[in-house]
Amino acid sequence: MQQIFYTTATPEEYHRLGENFPFPVPGSCLNPECLVKVPPQKYGFYKRNAIDANFNGRILIRRYYCKYCGKTISYLPSFCLPYFQYTIETILMALCYILDSNHSLRACLKLLKNLGWAPAHLQFYLKRFLNNQNRIKVGLRQLIPGISLPPDEHDKRKGAQKVLRIVTTGFPQIQTFQARFHKQCKYSFMAP
Ligand SMILES: [Zn+2]
Repeated sequence: MQQIFYTTATPEEYHRLGENFPFPVPGSCLNPECLVKVPPQKYGFYKRNAIDANFNGRILIRRYYCKYCGKTISYLPSFCLPYFQYTIETILMALCYILDSNHSLRACLKLLKNLGWAPAHLQFYLKRFLNNQNRIKVGLRQLIPGISLPPDEHDKRKGAQKVLRIVTTGFPQIQTFQARFHKQCKYSFMAP
């Protein structure tokens, strides 16, 4: 099972520390069907890509193993979005460009030029966010009880603009949002 832990480290700093990074240490098993109060054992690392405008490399993801239930727990730093190689801030910046300021696709790609994305790449993120907006609203309602959310719109794009604004203004940082959302919903806000 995957956990997202909040960190202020940049991908570069995280990478530089390697195995010496102060990874979270669980005091008990996190599997809801186990929860044994015995710290899971260190269980090595796996590597994943992390890419933003300043960094492109493979980072270590800390793993633990619970010998009572046989589950593995991995800790993803909050700059990583599950299943995506680009960091959450990069993807959010792209979404803000294309949704919030209503730039053309071409203009957005120009703003993101050091990433070298093809139009389909940006469209993929946009489509995913547009399709996930109702699911994101469900999560936001759980995270912020009493939150006022925009009604479901016929115009998906308009609705998504409003949801994006809440995500970017309602939390101290996008990483805080993503860690809390994942903990609450058990899936990423950009999951298929
Ligand atoms: Zn367990």
